Amino acid sequence: MLIGKHLIAGEWLGSDATFSSEPAHGPSHDFPVGTPALVDAAVEAAEEAFASFGWSTRAERAALLRKIADEIDARGDAITEIGTQETGLPEARLQGERGRTVGQLRLFADHIEKGDYLDMRHDQAMPDRAPLPRPDLRMIQRPLGPVAVFGASNFPLAFSVAGGDTAAALAAGCPVVVKGHSAHPGTGEIVAQAIDAAIKATGVHPGVFSLVQGGKRDVGTRLVQHPLIRAVGFTGSLGGGRALFDLCAQRDEPIPFFGELGSVNPMFILPQAAAARGAGIGTGWAGSLTMGAGQFCTNPGIAVVVDGPEADAFQAAAEAGLNATANQTMLTDGIADAYRDGVARVAAGTGVTQVMGTSCAARDAAPYLFAVSGDDWLSDHKLQEEVFGPLGIVVRVRDTAQMLQVARAVEGQLTCTLHLDDSDTADAKALLPLLERKAGRLLANSFPTGVEVCDSMVHGGPYPASTNFGATSVGTLSIRRFLRPVCYQDIPTGLLPEDV
Ligand code: NAP
Repeated sequence: MLIGKHLIAGEWLGSDATFSSEPAHGPSHDFPVGTPALVDAAVEAAEEAFASFGWSTRAERAALLRKIADEIDARGDAITEIGTQETGLPEARLQGERGRTVGQLRLFADHIEKGDYLDMRHDQAMPDRAPLPRPDLRMIQRPLGPVAVFGASNFPLAFSVAGGDTAAALAAGCPVVVKGHSAHPGTGEIVAQAIDAAIKATGVHPGVFSLVQGGKRDVGTRLVQHPLIRAVGFTGSLGGGRALFDLCAQRDEPIPFFGELGSVNPMFILPQAAAARGAGIGTGWAGSLTMGAGQFCTNPGIAVVVDGPEADAFQAAAEAGLNATANQTMLTDGIADAYRDGVARVAAGTGVTQVMGTSCAARDAAPYLFAVSGDDWLSDHKLQEEVFGPLGIVVRVRDTAQMLQVARAVEGQLTCTLHLDDSDTADAKALLPLLERKAGRLLANSFPTGVEVCDSMVHGGPYPASTNFGATSVGTLSIRRFLRPVCYQDIPTGLLPEDV
C-alpha cells in the first residue's frame, strides 16, 4: 500500500509540494517533493545513528540485512505490480531483479560475518628493538559515517533504494540517505517500507536509513554538499554523475564520489573468430543489444571487426537479429527523447551509414544499426558516447593494426569483450594489455550484459565509466568504498572496536 511520503529516520513525512509519477501504464500517484530541509533532517539523524550503528557488531548488521531481504520478499507482489507500471519493464524482469536485490543483501550478510573484508593487521610491539622500540600497531577497516545513495532509472531495485550501494554501506556500518529516483517513486517507497519494517524489527537506530523523494534537483545537490555526508554512491548518467561529482570536489571538505556511469562496452571480433562464426556472433550481439530495450550500462554498443566478407556476414546477421526484435517500451519519456537524440547524433557522425532502423515515437525504442570505417570512427569522438538504448555501431577497421588503434583510443569502459579462436591468440595478446587499462571487466566469447553478483566481480572502470577506477559497485568488494583504514597505536584493548 502506497503512503506517498518520505521516510525520514523512521517517520513518514509529507511536504507542501507534490509531483505525479509518470508510469508507462497504470495509474499515476502523487508523491511529496523533497526539500533541502528534509535532507538536513535525514542526514542529522544518520549522523546520530552512526554513534551506535558504526560500533554495532557484524552479527547485528547481518541480521538487519537479512531482515530487509525478508521484508522485500514479503512485499514481492506489490513491488512487481508498481515496478512494472512505473518502468514499463516486464514482470519477469522485476521478479528477477528482486531476486538479485535480496540475494545481494544476504550475500553481504554472509560476507561481513566472515570478517575478511576488515583486512586486519597487527604489528606486535617490540619494546626492546634498537635503536627505537616499536609500538603495538593494529589496523582494520572502519565505516565512514553517513552515505548518500542515488539509484538509476534502469534498475529500480538492484541499483536503487535497497540496491548494491545501500547493502554495501549498511554492511560496512554506514547509515544511508537515499535520494529517490523520480522515475520509480512508488517502487522506491515500498522498498523503503520494507527497510523501515526491518529496522523496527531489529531495534536498530531509525536514523540508519532515510528516503527523501526527488521531484526537484536541489534535493540531490544538498545531499552531496551536506557537511555530515562522508561518501556518495551514484548510479546514473555521465551528465548527472559529473555534475554531482564536481559538487563533491568543490566542498570545503571534499568527499569520495563513487559514480557508476555509462559505457559503450566495445567488442573486438578477431579475424579467425569472425571467419569461423561471424554470423553467430552477430546474432548474439543483436540479442545482447536489445535486452531490456538496450537500457543497460553494459550494453555492447560498438563492435569492431576487420572489413571484408566476414564483417559483411557478421553485420548481416546482426541486422537480421535486430529486424526480428519488436519495439520495446523505454523507462521514461526523457530517456526515449534522449535515445532519439542519440540516434540522430550517430546518424550525423563522420562517414556513418545507417544499416537498419525505422523510427520510434513516444516511449517506443526501435533498434538501430550503423556502420563506420575505422578511420572515420577514430576521427569522430562523438561516436564514442553512450547512446542509452538498442543502438549498435559496427566499426569496420582496415586490419588488426587499426583494431589496436581503436583499442588505444577507447575511453574508460565498464567492460571490453574479445571474440577469439585459438589462432587469434597473437592478436589477442596484443589487445589484452591495452584493454586491461580501459575496463573493469574483460570478457572472452560472451556478451557483457548480465553482471554476476559475487566476490570477483568488478563493475567499474576508468572515467567516464566511473568516477573512481579503484572501485566496484557490484559484488562484495564494493563494501571497500564505504570503509577507511584506521591504525590503532598502543590503544588499550578495552577501548578498541570489538572487531580489533
Ligand atoms: P540520471 O538521469 O543521471 O539520474 C540518476 C539520479 O541522479 C537521479 O536520482 C537523478 O535525479 C539524479 N540527478 C541526475 N542529474 C542530477 C543533477 N544535475 N543534480 C542533481 N541530481 C541529479 O541517470 P538515469 O537515467 O537514472 O540512469 C541511466 C544511466 O545510468 C545510463 O547512462 C546508464 O548507463 C547508467 N547506469 C550505470 C550503471 C553502472 O553500474 N555503471 C548501472 C545502471 C545504469 P532525478 O530523479 O531528479 O532525475
